[in-house]
Amino acid sequence: MSNLRPSPITPSVDFDRNGVQHGFLRLPYSRDDSAWGSVMIPVCVIRNGKGPTALLTGGNHGDEYEGPLALFDLARTLDPKDVGGTVIIVPAMNYPAFRAGTRTSPIDKGNLNRSFPGRPDGTVTEKIADYFQRKLLPRADIVLDFHSGGKTLDFVPFCAAHVLADKEQEKKAFAAVEAFSAPFSNRMIEIDAVGMYDTAAEEMGKVFVTTELGGGGTSRAETVRIARRGVLNVLRHAGVVAGAVDKHPTHWLDMPSGDCFCFAEEDGMIETTVDLGEPVEENQVLARIHAIGRTGSAAQEIRAKMSGLLAARHFPGLVKAGDCAAVVAKLVD
Ligand code: ZN
Repeated sequence: MSNLRPSPITPSVDFDRNGVQHGFLRLPYSRDDSAWGSVMIPVCVIRNGKGPTALLTGGNHGDEYEGPLALFDLARTLDPKDVGGTVIIVPAMNYPAFRAGTRTSPIDKGNLNRSFPGRPDGTVTEKIADYFQRKLLPRADIVLDFHSGGKTLDFVPFCAAHVLADKEQEKKAFAAVEAFSAPFSNRMIEIDAVGMYDTAAEEMGKVFVTTELGGGGTSRAETVRIARRGVLNVLRHAGVVAGAVDKHPTHWLDMPSGDCFCFAEEDGMIETTVDLGEPVEENQVLARIHAIGRTGSAAQEIRAKMSGLLAARHFPGLVKAGDCAAVVAKLVD
């Protein structure tokens, strides 16, 4: 770490100053239309004396909206006299992707959540990852990173944390998930954990919670309400914001193995036969993929490898071989 060069990102806010500051993480980006231009990533710091630090992020993927909606709102409304400690809000982490409405950055195609620990001398996306890795994560006691399904997936609304080797750290993370009070709470495993922000935070020993609150490249009234309530609840639970957690009932889900995930094996048009949140039995048909090149072909059936409920589904009507078609999670309670 010590032989890495300094981050090229300059914050216009002082993370140790009391009060509310709205500013930018300015990342130099020289290009055709702006020789000495920069990417201006919005950041808000709300601090009131000593206490824990919460790092709140959305737009890690640029086409997921509950997080940015809840966090721009929180930055506008959170009163420092209700805070004890520091709240750092970055509503749109991968800002170029957020501005383009795409999962990955239009500049370098970087998927921020596969770019950690990043590089100070790498691509724009790697430079953003490096800044979080070396500057922001070390300040944090608790980290909440909002996700949704983006343009290609849709989820039952859940808050989640990972099963961890350090059981004390895991317990704290699940307690924060419980406090978030989404309709579902998930003990999650990852398809592809290398390079994730989650993994970077967890390896530093931070309490890390994340969400999947919907998807389809937009948001819904219900999922935005869940996000707004959830972020305040996590801050109250962490003792950063005064007041009691506004508890709502939650159903715990478990994703015990790779059998949760079902992938398309052919291109075609998807017909989902189960809706989100509905119970499924092992071997039940979750979706059919119909060939679109000719009439008369049998559909590929996507079958559940375990029983539980449908936690996520492919969103657009057309699928390609290899796309995640459906995700089944076990209902714990
Ligand atoms: Zn995401």
